[in-house]
Amino acid sequence: MKYIDEYRDGTLARAMAEAIAGEAIAERQYRFMEFCGGHTHAISRYGLEDLLPGNVEMVHGPGCPVCVLPVGRIDDAIRLAMRPEVTLCTYADLMRVPASAGASLLKAKAAGADIRMITSSIDAVLMAEAEPAREVVFLAIGFETTTPSTALSIDLARDRQLSNFSVFCNHVLTPSAIRAILDTDHLPPAEQVRIDGFIGPAHVSTVIGTEPYRALCAQFAKPVVVAGFEPLDVLQAILMLVRQMNAGVCLVENQYIRAVTAQGNRIAQRKMAEVFALRDTFEWRGLGQLPHSALRLSEAYADFDAERRFDVVPVAAADNPACECGDVLRGLKKPADCKLFGTTCSPEAPMGSCMVSPEGACAAHWTYGRFRDRQATRVAA
Ligand code: SF4
Repeated sequence: MKYIDEYRDGTLARAMAEAIAGEAIAERQYRFMEFCGGHTHAISRYGLEDLLPGNVEMVHGPGCPVCVLPVGRIDDAIRLAMRPEVTLCTYADLMRVPASAGASLLKAKAAGADIRMITSSIDAVLMAEAEPAREVVFLAIGFETTTPSTALSIDLARDRQLSNFSVFCNHVLTPSAIRAILDTDHLPPAEQVRIDGFIGPAHVSTVIGTEPYRALCAQFAKPVVVAGFEPLDVLQAILMLVRQMNAGVCLVENQYIRAVTAQGNRIAQRKMAEVFALRDTFEWRGLGQLPHSALRLSEAYADFDAERRFDVVPVAAADNPACECGDVLRGLKKPADCKLFGTTCSPEAPMGSCMVSPEGACAAHWTYGRFRDRQATRVAA
């Protein structure tokens, strides 16, 4: 790929880190949340926190699609997959996310459910076409990044007149989650997270643009800088946030101008608006029920809605009580604060959703950060 090395240049990264350290006011604390799991992964992978001065702290956010799917929805998906006529298709990350009572899609597959891993929603449509005797259900998850491709797959199924394809829709919306993170005045002080600004998501913003962040920025007086996923992107976004705070302004800025515009991808937005409708409310792991935060299939596409076709009645289910994923997703705790981290919970045997996907804060910290924890402990000792 062209122009990757330029965004990973160590000399430039150190210069950018020096600029952050030079401009961050020593008496001040800066706490920025990277909303997106892709940024969490980049921050851990490239050790960016090690480059920041002590008064600039990064807080991991809930922008990992696998992580925020609540236990109850995975239970629903497993129940769907156990139906003899159903073939459930989904992305590999979801297979190992813990459901109720130690279940998971992977275990359901081992027990005989017809669950297949795919890399594109189009694969599920083609599977439905190839196997007309099967009811192929696509378990759709993700933020605005993956929603357009689900919409196109449903369109394709309609064009090909496939009556055996449907979608179990769990697409969620980024601005609603940011609002939930910030709108915490009703919570006790111990549950409120202090965030001074956001690194806005990269891929999501290619679809929705930067405009949707303006209302949040104005309402909560928190700056947002949309950034790319490369290490220099992230460092530059942090510098931009530091500068905004120092100047006492609160703006939506776009660091990722090579891919993101103010208006986003209008074609994708139109297709999403046609195929999907807003849910009144939806449960997010860690954030609870959030109004107008997720999508279902619109009336015009109701024939492709697996919830209607199979009468899925959502059943709420509790997380593993020892798992701190909820607090990790809200930025209240760091992965290493969870007593299960690295003991009973690891990527090989995840106890919570944050340890499954590489975008999950716990998985990223397990892969890259835990060694730094040990070094820090040794230095402190
Ligand atoms: S370490 Fe495991 S159990 Fe603890 S918060 Fe992370 S994913 Fe959940």
